[in-house]
Amino acid sequence: MKEEQKEKTAAELLKEKLLVKKESGAKTLPQEEIAKADDFCKGYTAFLDGAKTEREAVTRTVKMAEAAGFVPYDFGKHYQPGDKVYVVNRGKAVMLCVIGQNGTKNGVRLGIAHIDSPRLDLKPNPLYESNDLAFFKTHYYGGIKKYQWPTVPLALHGVVALKDGRVIDVYIGDDDSEPCFVVSDLLPHLAVDQMSKVMTKAFDGEMLNVLIGSRPFRDGEESESVKLNIMNLLYEKYGFTEADFMSADLTMVPAGKARDVGFDRSLIGAYGHDDKVCAYPAVMAALDTAVPPSTVITVLTDREEIGSDGATGMKSTYMADFIADLCEADGTVLRHVLAKTTCLSADVNAAYDPNYASAFEGNNASYLNNGAVITKYTGSGGKYSTSDAAAEYMAKIRRLLDDKNVLWQTGELGKVDGGGGGTIAKFVANLNADVVDLGVPVLCMHAPFEIVSKIDVYETYRALYEFYNAAE
Ligand code: MN
Ligand code: MN
Repeated sequence: MKEEQKEKTAAELLKEKLLVKKESGAKTLPQEEIAKADDFCKGYTAFLDGAKTEREAVTRTVKMAEAAGFVPYDFGKHYQPGDKVYVVNRGKAVMLCVIGQNGTKNGVRLGIAHIDSPRLDLKPNPLYESNDLAFFKTHYYGGIKKYQWPTVPLALHGVVALKDGRVIDVYIGDDDSEPCFVVSDLLPHLAVDQMSKVMTKAFDGEMLNVLIGSRPFRDGEESESVKLNIMNLLYEKYGFTEADFMSADLTMVPAGKARDVGFDRSLIGAYGHDDKVCAYPAVMAALDTAVPPSTVITVLTDREEIGSDGATGMKSTYMADFIADLCEADGTVLRHVLAKTTCLSADVNAAYDPNYASAFEGNNASYLNNGAVITKYTGSGGKYSTSDAAAEYMAKIRRLLDDKNVLWQTGELGKVDGGGGGTIAKFVANLNADVVDLGVPVLCMHAPFEIVSKIDVYETYRALYEFYNAAE
């Protein structure tokens, strides 16, 4: 016989009815769901290891999409519900589209994540020699704390475009058998001056020079023979010369693979979670969507970390132009479709860090293991430079996620006036569509090694899938 359950007190019942329950998924989720999260993240880390740059993320996504039946979009072709197409923008952004039962008539559903991450880009004239050591000059990309990048093993990723039209892939430093590269730092013994500087001044942007070699070309008495030797090695391996650096997108990213973090393996540490940790769930949600009610477009965009400017960023017209193409085929009008369009801007938020508690406001921070975080607004100061999702749209998303038992939470980006930031949500809102940020809480965001919870990654996938497939 089962023991009779203790009756709940009036206060307990009232609390259940009236107050928000903040719960850790690590405590409350069924074991099967946690196991599914662990499993889902195996796919995620494999994706992440091969997608450190936006170009690599696009290549990998297209491969996955083609395997799932997506084909290149053909303007003018008539598509049926359930048809799957994709569009690549300059190799640096990609859109996956699943045609819906109602096409574009009632608006489209957008899931948008970005696939660029902070890093050290090479300058157009990067190669130099100083005191018999060879270096690359870099120009950092995105918001980094410069002091985090010295003494971290780095890998070189990117492309070199030659004048004859060939494009050479460069990918070196991630495999244990390959060399890596590094920015040096001063030993503590001699760092009296450095250590007394404020952190923003201690590491000047022009000090982020990457050490790439030390042996000279030993034939004759040429000057700069270490530089010459390095250029010769590059020429032998890749077939480009120093001038070709001027037409290259080359970048230094932290070397190595994603790792489980913690004795319980509940967390993942890696470079580039922001925002591949939302891009991968969005792609998987798109691949798992058969025939959605409205057409679903998953956008993996570029340039977010530097303000979304540029042809492959969200300030570009490429997404709206594609929706316009779909509208033309459907006999609908773009502006009417956009007004009815709904979007989840899939981007990360800062997870509450007990070691830096004063940067957060505990009631409105997001927490590791509490599920996908919905961020009503980002911005800075008095809500500048952000869209603020309307109450009605928030209600719609809440209802959807609760109905489908998705674990979710809300989060603000830090305490008021503590700093701030933004996502692509405002650019979608500016098209006159409804949008809110939803994504994964991240510890030490923008560091060479960022941390996320496996549960949160999986719940973000579930949120995006349910959003794509929700009835109208
Ligand atoms: Mn982001
Ligand atoms: Mn970011």
